[in-house]
Amino acid sequence: MRDARYDVLFEPVQIGPVKTRNRFYQVPHCTGMGYRYPNAEARFRGIKAEGGWGVVSTQEVEIHPTSDLTPYNEGRLWDDRDIPALEMVTEAVHAHGSLAAIQLVHNGHHSSNRMSRLSPMAPSVAASASMDPVQARAMSLSDIKDFRKWHVDAARRAKRAGFDIVYVYAGHDMSLLQHFLLSRHNHRSDDYGGSFTNRLRLFREVIADTKDAVGDSMAIAVRLAVDELMGEDGLRHDVEGHDIIAALAEEPDLWDVNLSDWSNDSQTARFTAEGYQNPYTGFVKSLTSKPVVGVGRYTSPDAMVAMITQGHLDLIGAARPSIADPFLPHKIEHGLQDQIRECIGCNICVSGDNTAVPMRCTQNPAVGEEWRRGWHPEHVVRTDDAATYLIVGGGPAGLEAAQTLAKAGQNVKLAEAGGDWGGRVTREARLPGLSAWGRVRDWRLQHLTTAANVEMYLHSPMTAEDILAFGADHVVLATGARWRDDGVGKTHRVPLGFLRKGPLMTPDDVMAGALREDAGSGPIVIYDDDQFYLGSVLAEAAAATGREVIFITPASMVAPWSDHTLEQMRIQKQLIEKGITIMTSTLLSGRDAGQVTVACVYSGQQHHVPAELLIPVTSRLPNDELLHQLNARNTDAITSVTAIGDAYSPGLIAMAVYSGHDYAMTALGHTAADPRREDVVARQD
Ligand code: ADP
Ligand code: SF4
Repeated sequence: MRDARYDVLFEPVQIGPVKTRNRFYQVPHCTGMGYRYPNAEARFRGIKAEGGWGVVSTQEVEIHPTSDLTPYNEGRLWDDRDIPALEMVTEAVHAHGSLAAIQLVHNGHHSSNRMSRLSPMAPSVAASASMDPVQARAMSLSDIKDFRKWHVDAARRAKRAGFDIVYVYAGHDMSLLQHFLLSRHNHRSDDYGGSFTNRLRLFREVIADTKDAVGDSMAIAVRLAVDELMGEDGLRHDVEGHDIIAALAEEPDLWDVNLSDWSNDSQTARFTAEGYQNPYTGFVKSLTSKPVVGVGRYTSPDAMVAMITQGHLDLIGAARPSIADPFLPHKIEHGLQDQIRECIGCNICVSGDNTAVPMRCTQNPAVGEEWRRGWHPEHVVRTDDAATYLIVGGGPAGLEAAQTLAKAGQNVKLAEAGGDWGGRVTREARLPGLSAWGRVRDWRLQHLTTAANVEMYLHSPMTAEDILAFGADHVVLATGARWRDDGVGKTHRVPLGFLRKGPLMTPDDVMAGALREDAGSGPIVIYDDDQFYLGSVLAEAAAATGREVIFITPASMVAPWSDHTLEQMRIQKQLIEKGITIMTSTLLSGRDAGQVTVACVYSGQQHHVPAELLIPVTSRLPNDELLHQLNARNTDAITSVTAIGDAYSPGLIAMAVYSGHDYAMTALGHTAADPRREDVVARQD
């Protein structure tokens, strides 16, 4: 039964000529699938509709080869040949009674057209926003006319593909229409540049063109970034962001408003809390009678209701919350809001698009596997014959395997050596900014602790003898991994013998509280050769002790991989603001009392850096001793012994969750050994 407090979320909303059945709106978001994996894309979107999202949008869809984002897997509507792939999306969405929206885009100087080899286009001559040594040419009036036609053609094709809502998009600093709006990018002196009215002209024209072309049956949505968080150097919600909405207030059928660029729109939980966009977008409704959708990593139905009843939004927009839990609306509708699998705000999903592969999600292991492996985020088929599974280790891999097997009706026994569930997730969630990561543990525990077919044991370190004596049919070793103390990582492939010539703590020691108990007061060196988030988080933890902290990395910037999660700039800024000394492109090459010797990665030039305590963050070793011990013993009485998660191969938390799910689905016979492929093609002349 639905809680009456949430009724407002299930009211239909008229959007121009179409009506959505509720206020849950999956805004456009990338998937890393797009035109290159159209079956996977369609199935993924269809499941969102099945889960109750009233509107399900595509990702950005390129309208012309002059906007070619190769190698990234976005949507594509260059010509009629792209219609069938998008038709699969609309059919999948309509099958569950939802509306399908398409976000058309021309990326202007954001695309470098690697495959089409055409010259990028921009309001004014501009360097490419990518790393490529390419420039965009300034559009002539005839180019502007062409662009308007391409947009109309794409809108008509979108209609033929069955979409209900079509976007005119000016966001993320990735859209030609936004480039025309911004004086930073638009240096023209004709009717399309200079004054506010002139810079607005093309946006206004394209909205009108789209309305004329398809507005009889399709709703026209405008996606506008109202603030760029750049102060006076960019668009501000209380200056031109406000003025654009005021000038075009009644022109579209729907306003989808957010922040630009993408790193501001999709901020992680490390840096922002739920609802972080509302201070910037909350004004929009006061200027228009049209429905307004906005985002802010909303996972709590109470926060969603407040956005509606306080008059900030008409529709609750979501990208990441709908990825982590495609059934979020369904759960609220059926009084199951406690079972929402809340997004942890880690942006591993974003890294999929940024590395041009189908995305994965830390919380939802089925993401990207709905078509390829037939996985569903909610449904696990119950099996008649129950076996007993002993799962050793209660981290993300063990918990995910346990809850998937339990859902299928298997007998699950879960043994954890420590006094807490969650393994690395629990340890890392105690570090600065990462508390939301505990949701990975909490969602799984909630199911496990109430399931009748699950027994759970804390304080239960298992030996090989214990396991052999236990009598389980299947043994699953989810015993995790430990951080190395010898410096081996991406840069140093053999142990650094000098590291122990002074006090040293591994990240595991720090997470166990060693830093708080350390009697030292001298400088702490973090040596980060892992190059993702943990080194920087430990640097913050070290700085919180009041000691001098020096962050040394062979990489050319702090935490380079966090560029894929849109966090790199914020991480480096935060370290600078906390007074942490940063030394990039620097190797560790020696250690004596009170100092380390470092060397430039390019020249080898050495110098000394004061260091009382050294914390190397380099790579991890699997805790696979039990596996080797069992392999050396007679295990004939056990049907299978399998290592999963970090114990099998250390990686991201998302990979451990995936590994746990994969193990369970394979053991249950619910997944094909050979995943389906769509990157194989018929020969063409
Ligand atoms: P993963 O990410 O693969 O789930 P974690 O390191 O997060 O790995 O979790 C592994 C868990 O396994 C830890 O909580 C650890 O205490 C537990 N563990 C390790 N060895 C044993 C053992 N022999 N018996 C029981 N639990 C163990
Ligand atoms: Fe949320 Fe992380 Fe999943 Fe993305 S990967 S949807 S941020 S939990």
